[in-house]
Amino acid sequence: MTKAPAHRMKTTVGIIGGGPAGLLLSHLLDRAGVDSVILERQTRAYVLSRIRAGVLEQGTCDLLRAAGLGDRLDQEGLRHSGVNLAFQGKVARIDLEALTGGKVVTVYGQTKVTEDLYNARDSAGARMVHEAKDVQPHDIETEAPYLTFEHEGLAHRLDCDFIASCDGHHGIGRQMIPSSSRNEFELRYPFGWIGVLAKTPPPNEELIYASHQRGFVLCSMRSETISRYYLQAALQDTPEDWPDDRFWDELKQRLPSEVSATVIEGPSIEKSITPLRSFVSEPLSNGRMFLAGDAGHIVPPTGAKGLNLAVSDVKYLSDALIAYYRHGDETGLKSYDRLALSRVWKAARFSWHLTTLMHHFPDEGAFREKVQKAELDYLVGSKAAMTAFAENYVGLPL
Ligand SMILES: Cc1cc2nc3c(=O)[nH]c(=O)nc-3n(C[C@H](O)[C@H](O)[C@H](O)COP(=O)(O)OP(=O)(O)OC[C@H]3O[C@@H](n4cnc5c(N)ncnc54)[C@H](O)[C@@H]3O)c2cc1C
Repeated sequence: MTKAPAHRMKTTVGIIGGGPAGLLLSHLLDRAGVDSVILERQTRAYVLSRIRAGVLEQGTCDLLRAAGLGDRLDQEGLRHSGVNLAFQGKVARIDLEALTGGKVVTVYGQTKVTEDLYNARDSAGARMVHEAKDVQPHDIETEAPYLTFEHEGLAHRLDCDFIASCDGHHGIGRQMIPSSSRNEFELRYPFGWIGVLAKTPPPNEELIYASHQRGFVLCSMRSETISRYYLQAALQDTPEDWPDDRFWDELKQRLPSEVSATVIEGPSIEKSITPLRSFVSEPLSNGRMFLAGDAGHIVPPTGAKGLNLAVSDVKYLSDALIAYYRHGDETGLKSYDRLALSRVWKAARFSWHLTTLMHHFPDEGAFREKVQKAELDYLVGSKAAMTAFAENYVGLPL
């Protein structure tokens, strides 16, 4: 039996999910005087402990700075003007900055982005409900949508003008778009990644993406003393299958000797397994509900695009909502799908391409390996190809 709402609240934009997308949307709306409430299923501590993205595009950093979130980013973020591709025992550097007319990427952990957003939301006195259970959107195709949820054992109702579903891939928002008007495009890759955070300096100042017959490797970092590594692993693997000794041994075998010689082994702090997939759901809106971030799409992390796409969705959506409240202009709301999806598909293409270029596909034989090597050779030998890579890696315009 449904409980009658014990407590009723009102806001302008009801946001489901307090990950980077939901927090940033709430922050940008607040700066323009548009009220919102965030309903987050987890505790704040849980949200803050998730270790995921690390590479921010130039446009993401510019947006965070313009939104007053740049202080710690500029102090602690590691500015990378290049990225390295390793294959066939050699390493080739792609000079992102020179090839894109001055654009770079910044290594700054998602945990820090989330902390910065929480601090900003706290200082603004934002309304956030953590451990909101059974959040359900209602009447999204009317002018008076609302959300119901349970909190501390009581039933609540949040009336709003619009709903933003920023609740990640397993959230509720997308499921509320009728399947008759929803198209889902999905590609699952036949491998996953074992991610290891280790208390040792990274082997190089810049990221190294390595392609090897034993599988892909990404050498990344969180700081000058904390390394972040990812290794291609079997889909069924668990972190227990990767004790530290096996991990360091396998890592070194897959790297060119000039790189493996610089790897410093150390204790792992965290290990996780991620299956790789590409997924886009269309449309990203239904009536007065809009999907942003992982709620609408997932990319394999190879291209480091997921968080950056969450930021670009939120930019388009916040601009549209602000224009609506300032000028009664609905153009942005009507074009949100087109604008966001156009950028999403370009990032989906790049992430898919980099994944297929760098990983070992065990069941696809020698022809594929030869073509893969030819493509890598071409990429690092052609200024045109490197420019196209660099342009996508630093992020297409927002
Ligand atoms: C290993 C790995 C490496 C990555 N590396 C990068 C990288 O280098 N660069 C990059 O740009 N991206 C990267 N990503 C992707 C990035 O982490 C995500 O794209 C990003 O977290 C998306 O943010 P989001 O706010 O849309 O979703 P999420 O971070 O998933 O947040 C959604 C929130 O909604 C909450 N929620 C879910 N369901 C409900 C519900 N029913 N009710 C209420 N709340 C709910 C969740 O608890 C969560 O807090 C990586 C991802 C992984 C896994």
